[in-house]
This record gives sequence, C-alpha cells and structure tokens, in this order.
Amino acid sequence: MPLLEEQAYSMRTDISRAPGNQNSPRHKPCSDCKRGVPLRRVVFATIVTIIPESETRLPRKPRGVTAIYPGSFDPITNGHLDLIQRGSRLFDRLIVSVLRNETKQPLFSAEERMAMLNEVVGEYPNVAVDSFAGLLVDHAGRHSATVLLRGIRAISDYEYELQMALMNRRLNPGLETVFLLANEAYSFISSRLVKEVFALGGNISGLVPPSVEARLKRRISQPKRKGA
Ligand code: ADP
Repeated sequence: MPLLEEQAYSMRTDISRAPGNQNSPRHKPCSDCKRGVPLRRVVFATIVTIIPESETRLPRKPRGVTAIYPGSFDPITNGHLDLIQRGSRLFDRLIVSVLRNETKQPLFSAEERMAMLNEVVGEYPNVAVDSFAGLLVDHAGRHSATVLLRGIRAISDYEYELQMALMNRRLNPGLETVFLLANEAYSFISSRLVKEVFALGGNISGLVPPSVEARLKRRISQPKRKGA
C-alpha cells in the first residue's frame, strides 16, 4: 500500500477504535481491545503561527508579480518566444523589454524589434512590449516589477548571466532574477546565428516566427547602402 494510503487507513482504524466511537455500529472490537492494551489516540490540530512581518525580514510577496524579460531581440526567435510563453504562465504580468543600445549595431531598429514582438505576443493577454535605455533596474522600478526573467541555454550563458544578476541585485536587492532553462528544442538558437545562417542562404524556418522570417527576407534582400 502506498505510504499515504497506509497512513490514512491506520488513522481511520484508530478513530473507529477510539473510546468515544466504541458504540458506533461500525466498531468491531479488535484483539488489542480485548487484551486491554491502551488505545492509541489520534489528535487533529491546526497550529497557526503568526509571525510579525518585522521579524521575517523578507519583503512581503506583492499581490501581483510583474516580471521584465529584457533583451536585444534582434530579432525575436522561437527560443525567446518559448520563454515568453512560459513566463506568461508564471507571472501575473510579463513585460518584454527591448534594449535600445545602438552601440550593438542591431540589424533592426528598436521600433522594428518591438513591432515584431507585438506581432507574436498578442495571444498572451498578460504580456506587453516596451523598450528601455539606461539601467534595467530603473526600468523595472518604473513598472513596479519585482522579477527579471532571463534564459540559460548552456554553460556559456551562465557566466554572463550570473554577472548581470549579481550586479542587478546589488543595484536593487528587491529585484530577483529568475532563470528558465531553455527548451531543449530551441537551446541552440540565438538571434546572431539565425541572422548569419539566413544571410548565407540557409533555411531558418522553425527557428523564428514566420512574420520575422518575412521581415528578414525583406531586410536582407534590400540593396546595401553606399559605404555601408
Ligand atoms: P541579450 O543581448 O540581452 O543577450 P538576447 O535577445 O540575446 O539579449 O537574449 C535575451 C535573453 O533571452 C537572454 O537571457 C538569453 O539567454 C535568452 N535567450 C536567448 N535565446 C534563447 C533561447 N533560444 N532559448 C532560451 N533563452 C534564450
């Protein structure tokens, strides 16, 4: 018998043997009763301990948890989308935040990256898209977010992600970084690799949403500007 079932069974038999229940029609004297062995008693009690918040030291859990999923998303891949889908189930609100960092020389502008995200997050009602420049912790503060969501594909991601998470914790200890392990089906996908493969004529279907593939086609087939 599985342990829990066994425990429930022994509790039931203890109750039916308890002194108050001995007149019950379901009570059958057992061999222990006949020998006068003291009956075990089962006591049910609910213990509620109220710890004042000042003693717990931990900040109280907010009513609704808002998480920020920051990144370059240049462009969004199916790996990112998988994380968004899973994050939308874990948190009350999820804000996918595009980093406006022109020094990274993105293929798509921040507006284009946001438009691509908006095209695919529509089916998740608690997901919104935004952008930010400057400190991520300040951006999180503007949204009253308490969680930063990041993905880990391999050990190679870990070192960078750890540094970022520790720095962000130092800047705002109330902001927790939560890591989700990449879905194994997408763990080899990165925006950089998708762009490289596509530029060389490789097939990227299944790696990015179809709307992103169409935009990539348009962007890469555009003639290069003089001097670019
Ligand atoms: P960044 O420039 O901040 O690294 P990215 O857009 O490359 O931005 O990635 C944003 C986050 O998404 C990072 O935490 C990254 O590890 C994660 N990520 C990227 N690609 C994938 C993937 N295929 N599966 C899961 N997580 C991913």
